[in-house]
Amino acid sequence: MKDRRNTMQRELTYEVVLSYPGHPSAEDIYRVISSKYSTISKATVYRNLNMLFDEGKIGKVPSILGFEAHYDHRTDHHSHAICIKCGKVVDVDVQYDMDLVDVAVSMEKGFMLFSHDLIFEGICSDCRNKESSYGTEGIKD
Ligand SMILES: [Zn+2]
Ligand SMILES: [Zn+2]
Repeated sequence: MKDRRNTMQRELTYEVVLSYPGHPSAEDIYRVISSKYSTISKATVYRNLNMLFDEGKIGKVPSILGFEAHYDHRTDHHSHAICIKCGKVVDVDVQYDMDLVDVAVSMEKGFMLFSHDLIFEGICSDCRNKESSYGTEGIKD
């Protein structure tokens, strides 16, 4: 019955990603699952997330700037912005001509392109608010 258990655990992982607001990390997903099913291992959750991503069921924002990868219940092509202070990832629904960018890059580099991702880096409004209310000297690591 190992297959059946694996399928159930994968379904559960999928449901948690779908219901999680925003872009959870593998750690976030593991925390939710382990609070209900304490027997599930972290390695299993990580493996299931990778499988769901490979199957195209969930999206993934790659690890960047030392922050871990984030998963996404959206699988349509869209861009992301990441906060360099807290690592929060948000969707950016700015429309631009993706094909035009691909054509420009393939002409320049001779690549046949299938896709590309845009990730904006900046400081989110929460972190900016914190900075302005405490003053910049107040914030030390
Ligand atoms: Zn932030
Ligand atoms: Zn997203």
